[in-house]
Order: sequence, then C-alpha cells, then structure tokens
Amino acid sequence: MQLLMMGAPGAGKGTQAAKLVDKYKIPQISTGDMFRAAVKDGTELGKRAKACMDAGQLVPDDVTIGIVRERLAKADCANGFILDGFPRTLAQAEALTKILDELGKKLTQVLNIHVPSEDLIERAIGRRICKNCGATYHVKFNAPKVADVCDACNGELFQRADDNETTMKNRLSVYENSTRPLIDYYKAEGIYSEIDGRQPIDKVTAELFKVLDGMK
Ligand code: ADP
Ligand code: ADP
Ligand code: ZN
Repeated sequence: MQLLMMGAPGAGKGTQAAKLVDKYKIPQISTGDMFRAAVKDGTELGKRAKACMDAGQLVPDDVTIGIVRERLAKADCANGFILDGFPRTLAQAEALTKILDELGKKLTQVLNIHVPSEDLIERAIGRRICKNCGATYHVKFNAPKVADVCDACNGELFQRADDNETTMKNRLSVYENSTRPLIDYYKAEGIYSEIDGRQPIDKVTAELFKVLDGMK
C-alpha cells in the first residue's frame, strides 16, 4: 500500500501515520522528521533546512525531492510506505508521480485529515515530542501520564522550535497557498479521501482504517 497523508500543520498526520505503521507494517516517511534529524546531526542538508524551518517556510523543492527519491528506493519501501508531509507543492507532487513511475509503483490512496485552521495553532503549540522515541503528545488533547515524560519509553519530551504562534501563522499561510491546491490534483486522480480530523485521535484512526480496509 502506497499511502499519502495530507493535512495542514498540526492536523494529526504524524499521529495517525504512526497508527498505520503499527497496523500495516509499512514505514512512515516524514520529510519533517528527516529534516529535523539532519539539523540535529549538523549535516549540510540540516544547515540548508534549518533556516527555512525556523521561518515556517518550505525547504526548496529540489532538496526535498532529492531526499524523498533516495528514501523511496530503499528496500523497506518494497511493500509500501506512508508519506507524511510530502508532497507540499505541485512541483513535489509531479516529481513524486515521476519517481513512483520509475519504480513501477502508484499511490494507492491519499488521506487528507481536515481540521479548520482555528484549531491548528492550539494543536501545534501544545505538541510535545519524545526525544528518545519520537512519540507525539499534546499537553491537553493527548497528555502523557506524567508531565513531560514519554509513556512508552520514559524519555524526556520537548517542544519543536517552530511550534510557536508566529511560525505557525507562516506555516498555515504556506499551506493555504502551496499545499492546499494538491487536493484538486489528487481528486482528479480519483484516489482522494477526506477524514474529519476534529474528532478524537482514536475516532480519526478508526475512520482511516475503514477507508483503507474498504479498498482491499
Ligand atoms: P502533524 O503531523 O499533522 O503536524 P501531529 O500528529 O504532530 O500533526 O499532531 C499535532 C498535535 O495535535 C499533537 O500534539 C497531537 O498530539 C495533537 N493531535 C493529533 N490528533 C489530534 C486529534 N484528533 N485531536 C486532538 N489533538 C490531536
Ligand atoms: P507540520 O506538518 O507540523 O508542519 P513537518 O514536520 O511536516 O511539520 O514539517 C516541518 C517543517 O519542515 C516545515 O515547516 C518545512 O520547513 C519543512 N518541510 C517538511 N516537509 C517538507 C516538504 N515536503 N517540502 C518542503 N519543506 C518541508
Ligand atoms: Zn518515548
């Protein structure tokens, strides 16, 4: 299954992708996670990505497309994958179609988690991530049992540098201008589903499973 998780910043893409990984045993490919890992490791890629990320702007298409092209060619993608946060521009979507063509693959389904923009800033600002295992929490909507400690591994939770109100406003406007138009691109391909992301996390997961299990 070749899946694409779409949605505005903070809509719940990463949270839901993790549930799909558990159920379908295919890898999650998050360009945001890849860029954060590169920033942490201080690589050339990280240096290029950091300024864009801090400003809430997109990393240039050529850089982003390059890392996805390499990642999709890896052996663990043979039985499928879940793209999370890529593509975000029409140029990225077109490049993805070409990359998959070259690999003899096609997208199975595009899952768009829809959340109205007024809810997204609160979601991002309350987001906390485990330094150790990457699990995602929310201080109010998905709180860990002990504040700032991961339920799964006891790791320490942190807040992303770009999860502040100013950067989020930029990210939301980038989403509106560059990413939202992809909805029409995938609707035209006939592989688009929309899920109401205002529901509790487990309800959203159940709806995603329903869409995907209905396709088999
Ligand atoms: P994205 O990957 O789309 O940016 P995340 O999955 O990281 O989004 O979720 C953003 C924040 O919102 C996290 O703190 C997460 O715990 C929380 N969250 C995710 N899904 C829901 C939901 N259905 N209801 C309330 N909060 C949610
Ligand atoms: P969110 O979905 O919460 O906005 P991500 O972790 O997906 O967060 O992305 C964080 C940042 O990484 C983005 O604001 C952007 O700077 C960069 N980024 C991630 N994916 C892409 C992409 N496909 N194209 C360009 N930049 C990206
Ligand atoms: Zn953890």
